[in-house]
Amino acid sequence: MNCDLCSSRTTEQTVTYTIQLDEKVIVVEHVPARVCISCGERLYSPGTGERL
Ligand SMILES: [Zn+2]
Repeated sequence: MNCDLCSSRTTEQTVTYTIQLDEKVIVVEHVPARVCISCGERLYSPGTGERL
C-alpha cells in the first residue's frame, strides 16, 4: 500500500494518536497505522478510525 499523497512506500507501525475535542485532548497509544517513509503521512486501517 502506497501513500495517498506522494505514492511512496509505507511501513506498518504503531503510533500515538491524539484527538483534540474542544478543551480535551484524547491520547490513544499503540494504534496500528501505516506511515509513509517519505512524507510521514499516517494511513489508518479501515475500522481503526471508527473504533476511536
Ligand atoms: Zn507520502
